[in-house]
Amino acid sequence: RAKAEGRGNVQIFAPRMEREVMRRRDLELELQRALAEGELAVYYQPQFAIDGEAVIGFEALVRWVHPTQGLISPGEFIPIAEQTGLITELDMWVLRNACAQARGWGSVKLAVNLSPVDFRTRDLEAQVKRILEETGFPPERLEIEITENLLFGNQPEAFASLAALRRMGIRIALDDFGSGYSSLGYIRRFRVDTIKIDRGFTQNIGQSDDAAAIIDCVVRLARALAITVTAEGVETREQLRYLQLVGCHHVQGYLLAGPVPVSSIERYLERATPAASASRAAI
Ligand code: C2E
Ligand code: MG
Ligand code: MG
Ligand code: MG
Repeated sequence: RAKAEGRGNVQIFAPRMEREVMRRRDLELELQRALAEGELAVYYQPQFAIDGEAVIGFEALVRWVHPTQGLISPGEFIPIAEQTGLITELDMWVLRNACAQARGWGSVKLAVNLSPVDFRTRDLEAQVKRILEETGFPPERLEIEITENLLFGNQPEAFASLAALRRMGIRIALDDFGSGYSSLGYIRRFRVDTIKIDRGFTQNIGQSDDAAAIIDCVVRLARALAITVTAEGVETREQLRYLQLVGCHHVQGYLLAGPVPVSSIERYLERATPAASASRAAI
């Protein structure tokens, strides 16, 4: 009887698991094709000064416009790309396209996400340098977003690569700050230029006194170290008001603008202004 039930369970669950495994394998093969055949696109999410009006930059966010499955989110295919070793090719594709597109956008910042896996590539700095040269994009306008996992992984090569990128004039942002094994020690050891407060904290403003207190504390600390603070995932006026109150520098979120295709960038450029440097803002 137990055996029968067991078999029953298998019958119920196996097809679903199998479908999932097959979908992953399909995506893996198709991602390679997508990259080659131009199915990927770069969307841009505006970043705003704390007034919520002036646009100070854009974050490049990759999208997969799949011919039959529609828009697939990076949350689904970035992990697959990381596991199959396609990620660096993908990230360099995004970097190249974003630099080429954003070159003529005045002096606003361009933020591009890199995976921790990219930092295992021996010639990462050389690849980035070549892309900047070929697109004519000024390194001072580029900000590379990395996650805490990279620093937590503690790979000496990663620290060397980050230092080389900074020497080129590129800024480094610590993404999703507070979501993982973040440590203030890492910020001190490797001076990042920007901290991006994870949207988990932002969205708890007004719900949790702890989240509000942590944000306040992170902003103070960052200001003392002349680091710029961007709050991610701002969705309400109340959240924006609190971030203004504690002195956060920049904001990003659906309240102000979601990621848009390059064809919709114009109206944000009309509101563009170069970002004040963190050290000036810290005074
Ligand atoms: P991220 O770098 O932290 O990017 C922010 C994500 O939050 C984006 O999701 C953005 O669309 C979303 N978002 C922005 N404002 C709001 C808001 O107000 N509320 C909420 N709920 N979400 C908001 P997206 O585009 O789906 O990207 C997800 C993640 O995928 C990114 O997180 C980043 O880690 C990764 N990713 C995206 N593009 C690339 C890329 O070109 N290379 C690499 N390596 N990773 C990428
Ligand atoms: Mg990011
Ligand atoms: Mg983030
Ligand atoms: Mg992220």
